[in-house]
Amino acid sequence: QTQELSQVRIDYHAALQALVQDGTRMVCTGRMHTDRICRFESLCYSTEAEEFIFFHSNSSVMLPNLGSRRFQPALLDLSSVDDHNTQYFNFVELPSASLKYMPKPVFVPDVALIVNRFNPDNLMHVFHDDLLPIFYTMQQFPDLDSDARLFFMEGWGEGLHFELYKLLSTKQPLLKEQLKTLGRLLCFTKSYVGLSKITTWYQYGFVQPQGPKANILVSGNEIRQFTKFMTEKLNVSLEGMPSEEYIVVFSRTINRLIINEAELILALAQEFQMKTITVSIEDHTFSDIVRLISNASMLVSMHGAQLAMSLFLPRGATVVELFPYAINPEHYTPYKTLSTLPGMDLQYIAWTNTEKENTVTYPDRPWDQGGIAHLDKAEQDRIVKSGEVPRHLCCRNPEWLFRIYQDTKVNVASLIQAIRQTVKTKPGPKRQKGTSGLYPGKVRDAKCQTSVQGTSEAKLSVSWQIPWNLKYLKVREVKYEVWIQEQGENTYMPFILSHQNHTFSDNIKPFANYLVWIRCIFNKNLLGPFADVLLCST
Ligand code: UDP
Repeated sequence: QTQELSQVRIDYHAALQALVQDGTRMVCTGRMHTDRICRFESLCYSTEAEEFIFFHSNSSVMLPNLGSRRFQPALLDLSSVDDHNTQYFNFVELPSASLKYMPKPVFVPDVALIVNRFNPDNLMHVFHDDLLPIFYTMQQFPDLDSDARLFFMEGWGEGLHFELYKLLSTKQPLLKEQLKTLGRLLCFTKSYVGLSKITTWYQYGFVQPQGPKANILVSGNEIRQFTKFMTEKLNVSLEGMPSEEYIVVFSRTINRLIINEAELILALAQEFQMKTITVSIEDHTFSDIVRLISNASMLVSMHGAQLAMSLFLPRGATVVELFPYAINPEHYTPYKTLSTLPGMDLQYIAWTNTEKENTVTYPDRPWDQGGIAHLDKAEQDRIVKSGEVPRHLCCRNPEWLFRIYQDTKVNVASLIQAIRQTVKTKPGPKRQKGTSGLYPGKVRDAKCQTSVQGTSEAKLSVSWQIPWNLKYLKVREVKYEVWIQEQGENTYMPFILSHQNHTFSDNIKPFANYLVWIRCIFNKNLLGPFADVLLCST
């Protein structure tokens, strides 16, 4: 026992001395605060000041060294939401000699990932903003392994779905509030600060109306690797699952209700000749929900964060999203965008209630549940009479909240008709046929030959070899695209060809220089890269 204590004391002493001598070291990736993640050695945090501290010494490193641009507006985003001004990270600077006058630091031995959760009580935000970005940030840095510890600095309590965050590593995540109990000055031996945004697909409308992100970089493949990981960690067992296909209705029980849910379930069961079950966050565990959804043929639900669970649907399944009266589905597409990511292989159907008599409004509720009683009379009248919520910014638009928190009596006939327009036979999961969506390489050994006939006619023959990777692939259709441009002109003639050579004679002039670009196309839409340009002189 004594031995152990003195051992700790020696280590502590050495660690403190190293901190004073070496200071903080920071090296970051990313060129802008919105795409930056930083790796630190000896980043410290004062739980009294609630500030991170960078200690300067002769050996400290700060890359990028931005000077005061570090505050314009911040070093980096601590959450995965782009450039949100409540989610910025920075530190204050001190000489490491000032440690002499500060509380004795407590060292955090675990490799730390320090981030902000964006909205831990909302399931869509939990998956999209936190869990997927944390999972793939951990994949990006090898020392963020399963023994890393997550630190949530946004200042919330555990939130409704803390159990999900706990699955990401073997160590209990720590909240900002809990850091106080560890000490007055914490020093993280090794830490990463910030989150990868590479998996996010939606922007919530802080600066422009909400919609899919401009440059989506994630596909169903990465989503499914994440859900596979979560499914395993949740200990989901597929034992006792119905062997026949079934439909899941994900119901909300507090607000935005489907008034005639029983009628809806009967109609779905009858139309598709499938068992139809309901789940809700209130009545089921996560394991149960994941188990049921991951084998479902169709998921039917009101617009709302519970639809983030379509992450767990099997390939080939159908997502049916219901929207209350006066909500235009095209304007609110987090779940449509998810379902239609390349490689998600889900069918997506939106249905809106268009019948005013089938909606139930709640003008007298608090504003955040859609009440409008606090607005002036004219504005209330305008909202009640309007047939569609105009596009708006997040997050307090009263007309949007009024409409999205309506209850709906679903016109079952019109819903079934909408589903039938897309789902012709059975909605069930499809087994995927091998790898698809692979792109061709460059065509190889491209050559041209030319000949001149008289003073006005010429021929240009071009040939090439198949892309190198084609001989290993089964591709339904292989085509080639050839662009011919006369040197110095800014237009070109495009051709789609099936063979590996072609002789062009229309519009080919004698004694001219032509630039020829060739690329391969698989299955009509998988465009490969152009091979190096050919210069052909007639
Ligand atoms: N929620 C739920 N049942 C309800 C109402 C809400 O499960 O009856 C969940 C919802 O899925 C989300 C959270 O509670 O995870 C917050 O719901 P809110 O209506 O605020 O957000 P939205 O679903 O519109 O994103």
